[in-house]
Amino acid sequence: MRRFARAQEQRATRQFELESALRHALDARELFLMYQPRVSLQTGVIMQSEALLRWRHPVHGLVSPAEFIPIAEEASLIDTIGAWAMSTACRETGQLQRLARTLPKVAVNVSPQQFVNPRFTAQVEAALERAALAPDQLEIEITESMLLADAGRTVQTLRALRALGIEVAVDDFGTGYSNLGWLASLPLNRLKIDRSFVTKMATDPRSDALVGAIIQMAHALELKVTAEGIETAEQAQRLRELGCDEAQGFWFSRPVSLQALRTLLAPVSRLLADGTRAA
Ligand code: C2E
Ligand code: MG
Ligand code: MG
Repeated sequence: MRRFARAQEQRATRQFELESALRHALDARELFLMYQPRVSLQTGVIMQSEALLRWRHPVHGLVSPAEFIPIAEEASLIDTIGAWAMSTACRETGQLQRLARTLPKVAVNVSPQQFVNPRFTAQVEAALERAALAPDQLEIEITESMLLADAGRTVQTLRALRALGIEVAVDDFGTGYSNLGWLASLPLNRLKIDRSFVTKMATDPRSDALVGAIIQMAHALELKVTAEGIETAEQAQRLRELGCDEAQGFWFSRPVSLQALRTLLAPVSRLLADGTRAA
């Protein structure tokens, strides 16, 4: 009991510490974005990248977003941090597109609290404008649970984003409790199949069947499909056979810095000829 109580206390202390540190993290420039390529399974070309938040805490080192995003949500800091992530992802992608002279789009994760904020669409539009990035170069990733909560406002926001030309993907698909009826009627563009299914595919025929069924269902609803968490050549090959459009995972690339993404996009010879450096 005592050990349990101590572990709980330590967790609470760390959470408290992280919460107060997170309040200053933006001003202290401790937050930054990494980008993970998303690759077309038909052509092998990098079509998009997903912007992933990172926090370098002066004492604790790199803190995972899986740990600090829920803290930011609870402490009502996610609006500010989320808006920063959106602006930064748009600005850096604009720079990248001008430097690399290719058009990898960017996907940005959005928390439920941001999505239900009445100012959200206007904030996104302003971020795109400041970055001189076309709206069709941005995809917003929402989670299944957001499709269930506050349905009226969600639909309104989805329509407003789509009207601007922004694409919307459902992240971690298969882990929440999607109402399949909503899936058919909402103006969505893409499903991202959760890593847990991809991981089990090779050893569990049921997971393989499920992934195949999700891809077919998505295509029937005119949605594109990205599989997450591909770590082996076999998984990539199988997903291609199943008709999956796009893949993201350590097999292709871990999340990398903007500079590293630029090198992945442009042949090195062209970087030499250009003599330009990423800002
Ligand atoms: P997510 O949006 O599902 O992002 C994919 C996560 O899977 C990333 O973890 C990525 O590094 C990891 N991943 C990608 N490929 C592989 C693989 O092959 N194997 C394994 N084991 N993992 C892989 P990360 O960066 O730690 O992010 C965790 C979650 O934090 C994200 O999951 C997302 O829900 C949230 N997050 C990250 N950035 C933001 C943000 O800017 N805003 C919000 N609201 N949430 C964010
Ligand atoms: Mg995501
Ligand atoms: Mg995901």
